[in-house]
Amino acid sequence: MRSLAGYPFNINKCILGKVTTKQVLPFKRRNYIFISTNCHIPSGYAAILMNKLPSEVDLTPIVHIIQDIDHLKDGDIILIEPSGQINVLYEKNTYDNSILVTQRCNCACIMCPQPKLSNEYDQLDLNIKLISLMDKNTKILGITGGEPTLLENSFFEIISACKKYLPKTELNLLTNGINFHNLDFVQKLIKIKHPNLFIEIPIYADTDSQHNKIIGAKGFYKTIQGLYNLALFNQKIGLRIVIHKLNYERLPQLAEFIYHNFPFVFHIAFMQMEIIGHAKENIDELWIDPYYYDNHLETAINYLNNRQMNVSIYNSQLCILPKSLWKFSKKSISSWKNIYIDECTNCNQVNNCGGLFVSSINKYSEYLKTIKFDTEFV
Ligand code: SF4
Repeated sequence: MRSLAGYPFNINKCILGKVTTKQVLPFKRRNYIFISTNCHIPSGYAAILMNKLPSEVDLTPIVHIIQDIDHLKDGDIILIEPSGQINVLYEKNTYDNSILVTQRCNCACIMCPQPKLSNEYDQLDLNIKLISLMDKNTKILGITGGEPTLLENSFFEIISACKKYLPKTELNLLTNGINFHNLDFVQKLIKIKHPNLFIEIPIYADTDSQHNKIIGAKGFYKTIQGLYNLALFNQKIGLRIVIHKLNYERLPQLAEFIYHNFPFVFHIAFMQMEIIGHAKENIDELWIDPYYYDNHLETAINYLNNRQMNVSIYNSQLCILPKSLWKFSKKSISSWKNIYIDECTNCNQVNNCGGLFVSSINKYSEYLKTIKFDTEFV
């Protein structure tokens, strides 16, 4: 999530609104935050952003921003905090939007990039309003956490709101799948009849002990039951595997396990680890140079691909993959946390390569190198 900092005036609670640089009709203004390029303060808006303050300010909520105001585009949705911090919750011109609906979780994954909170404010009303303000042509929207299903009824309300306000949008739900072991819970979700819901669930290993060690909970069999419960209703499901030192050796066995037990899944993503949160704290236990698991990854990918399963590699760099795997590699890192390093400047694959997470700037494969000729790779 991008954030900007400004100086607040007349702001004593959080304000959510849609950014506009053009005047909107007065009766619609309460949902809009107007960027004023002069000292004019029009009435009726939820707030005004400006980079020049007028000599006199009335009671209108204002944030005076000096830097980066031009990063905000019409149709973006922002949350202004009383401190003047501006959080960009939705960007109209990207495919990377997601809503973090809770930071509570029933697992404690050793590489979790978003460590959990045990207490938090109820964000349901805010999230419903956020969804209602999004552009109706939004192509894809992520629902993430924490563990979104822990919200129970609020979780169903969020999915229903997405169906109501964004009927054309693909909803991509990231969940550990544990709560779907409860068939009643699955039925409540299915009853919503969301037209385009894709549920992605992690399976980190083919054994209960290894998976449970990674997620810090006894969830393996519940997640498996959850997958079968969802499959009963032909729910579109994907599997996600974050690769690190604790699970890379058994990637080929995991691929076999997936093929034999979950032939119904729509997609399988093998992912390089993002080094923030618990992954950063536990880096010594988790880090293996991704170059060193290429053989295991190649065996797993080829096994699944040969059996007509839809498989991808996320968050990887082409220069450390064997060429046979390039076609599976996707540009998957959200634009606001995606970087390319010096080696990339003259690389002839820079437009095809997904680059790195910004959090990897101090920890990435020592085999990254500029690609000058594709024939270097076999
Ligand atoms: S040098 Fe950079 S752009 Fe080229 S393949 Fe490697 S990471 Fe990608």
